[in-house]
Amino acid sequence: MVSSASARNPLWHPFADMGAVDGDRLVITRGEGSYVWDDEGKRYFDATASLWYANFGHGREEIATAVADQLRTLDSYNLFGYNANEPALKLAERVSALTPEPGSKVFFGSGGGDVIDTAVKIARSYFAHTGSPEKVHVIGRVQGYHGTHGFGTAVGGIAANAAGFGPLPGDISHVPYDSAEALEAEILRVGPERVAAFFCEPVIGAGGVLLPPDGYIEAVAEICRKHDVLFVADCVIAAFGRLGTWFGIDRWAVKPDMITTAKGITGGTIPLGALIVAPRVAEPFFTGAPGAPVLRHGATYAGHPVACAAGNATLDIYERDGLIPRGRELEKPLADALSGLVSHPLVAEVRAGLGFLAAVELKADVVAANPGAANRLQRLARDEGVLVRNLAKGIAVSPPLIAGEAELDQLATALPRALDKLV
Ligand code: PLP
Repeated sequence: MVSSASARNPLWHPFADMGAVDGDRLVITRGEGSYVWDDEGKRYFDATASLWYANFGHGREEIATAVADQLRTLDSYNLFGYNANEPALKLAERVSALTPEPGSKVFFGSGGGDVIDTAVKIARSYFAHTGSPEKVHVIGRVQGYHGTHGFGTAVGGIAANAAGFGPLPGDISHVPYDSAEALEAEILRVGPERVAAFFCEPVIGAGGVLLPPDGYIEAVAEICRKHDVLFVADCVIAAFGRLGTWFGIDRWAVKPDMITTAKGITGGTIPLGALIVAPRVAEPFFTGAPGAPVLRHGATYAGHPVACAAGNATLDIYERDGLIPRGRELEKPLADALSGLVSHPLVAEVRAGLGFLAAVELKADVVAANPGAANRLQRLARDEGVLVRNLAKGIAVSPPLIAGEAELDQLATALPRALDKLV
């Protein structure tokens, strides 16, 4: 007998209750600018830029042309050993030149999770090859999100995402997301001689759009420097304009040892991640000396020419259209557009004001009475023609950087309506 589950569509969605989703799918068929359309022709404002990444919106002809041209010249070739390709060389050079540290190296992966796991391995490998092999411990933050690969699942601090998978990589612990003192205390508890790296999203995204307290980023960077702990800025969401700068972390006067990026590097058009490694960390791997360490790590599609061609075309768009500063210019208009929600009886808090992203959190009793409330709110917003992201206790928005007054007005109208229907 065929069960009801197997009789349905075989497509299994990430992070989805498939019992609820199957039969209520939103099939997106087309995208243009800040909007997407479903298979019935209904138009939606893509207020999440898909998944925090369609920073220049959808449907850019330049990307289609760059990708098609690349497919016609060199459709694929691996980057292992001596192999390289022109789009990867060019993109690495451009990304490196934009970073806070001249001479940074760029290691490509297929997405954010890839480069997170690469960063953990490079951190441990760096200390193994520079005389401190006992420096292996990694510290993440409660509510941090660093993807779903092995290390990233363990370094992430959303407990539900790590539950039920059996033992995850060890020598990893978590500190509260808003206390630099807690980080230093944890480093001292573990022993600075054992701590390799601290992973930090400048603004926590999937964990709830949690803004860092004033002075926090500078303080944790300094604590890491003091204890020779690598400071890894996870800018998978924060980079490429989301915070109004190239990498997000460059809003603060700090120099991370590694920066993880993905998403906006191609505007999400082709999967690509890029890990930026500061010169001092990369140096041992580049000496050319006999017996110098080799990073025995990398995925088949690292530096894929088509993905890198999309990346180069994406940087062209950001530069030509002046999109990067918009993440900062739009932070106040977005906060203003959502400010009215604070007085809604179901809303506990609106978090906004740093970068072009925000969260609306529901009151604890609303979520306690109905654990599916956030998903339902996302679903109701969809009925209002706006796509938002569900969080554990509310919803997040992170519109394309091309969105303007009309789109923010639409958000300001749709969300109260959706909230009114949520009871
Ligand atoms: N790091 C952060 C901050 C993210 O938000 C994400 C994804 O949302 C990741 C890492 C993982 O990226 P990916 O989903 O491309 O593996």
